[in-house]
Amino acid sequence: MQYKYLKVLKIIHLKSQLNYIKNKINGNVILIADTCFGSCDIPYYEFIDLKIDLIIHIGHTRIPNIQNKSIPIIYLNAYSMIDIRRVIKKSITYLTGEKIGIVTTAQHIKDIDKIKKILEKNNLKPIISKGNNRISEHGQIIGCNYSSASKIKDKVDSFLFVGSGNFHPIGLILSSKKPVVAADPYSNEVKKEELEILRDKILKQRYGAITLSKNANNFGILIGLKKGQQRFDLAIKVKELLDSFNKNNFFIAINNFSPIYLESIRDIDCFISTSCPRIAIDDYLQYKKPIITPIELEIAFNERKWDDYEFDQIL
Ligand code: SF4
Repeated sequence: MQYKYLKVLKIIHLKSQLNYIKNKINGNVILIADTCFGSCDIPYYEFIDLKIDLIIHIGHTRIPNIQNKSIPIIYLNAYSMIDIRRVIKKSITYLTGEKIGIVTTAQHIKDIDKIKKILEKNNLKPIISKGNNRISEHGQIIGCNYSSASKIKDKVDSFLFVGSGNFHPIGLILSSKKPVVAADPYSNEVKKEELEILRDKILKQRYGAITLSKNANNFGILIGLKKGQQRFDLAIKVKELLDSFNKNNFFIAINNFSPIYLESIRDIDCFISTSCPRIAIDDYLQYKKPIITPIELEIAFNERKWDDYEFDQIL
């Protein structure tokens, strides 16, 4: 497809890639220097005024259930070139049972068959599933959606996550309630116990936040303005629950959440986030007032038991 003007670019290796594209087309390229947390976070409507013809989004896969009728987008996945074999072999002894669910992020998705074969060679039974319509690839997870794992969690003894950092494996362990081993190809580190300690710490924080929210009278229902983080129907349900308990509540819509913005809204005792589920969980300590998820609100108002706690996801 030929585009006369290629004006928007989300890019990592700035100079060489910008120059490459500039040389290939007869048009202008604009680098968007704002934060971009995922494919949920593409400000299509702001781009319309700039008369953008095409968006190139690098490093995230498409979220299929986000409707985009404005500007065409090319998603360029930034695959990791690192060899995953060493860390996968190392992870074998940490795994529980023989039926192993494999999940990973967009960066390692092309290695998923390689991971499967290594497990099979070690007499394990790997299982890979495709998530729901928020997920592009087999075995892929994103921070707000673990449906690739949920679909198979009753069939597996444990999960193997391949990727770096705690962000994805902690969501996996909280959502699946199964043993999780995280194999990091970059550091060659394998984590299991560390994840369980972190999970317990987060659950204690969540319990504390729920307890604090029980005494709140004024609630702010947070609505994300980023297109892929909007759950307005859920916000309405949260409002109905608060109304039924005669609690004051207000909708608050924000694009980028930060402690400074929320602290300036003084009359609120507790926030309920219907936006990215990770705001309440991962950024909790940055906020002076409790931020809880809609599921946690149900627990606070005895509509759900703590034993039935679930990690909030955009499904
Ligand atoms: S909603 Fe949050 S977790 Fe989900 S893709 Fe966006 S930034 Fe990531």
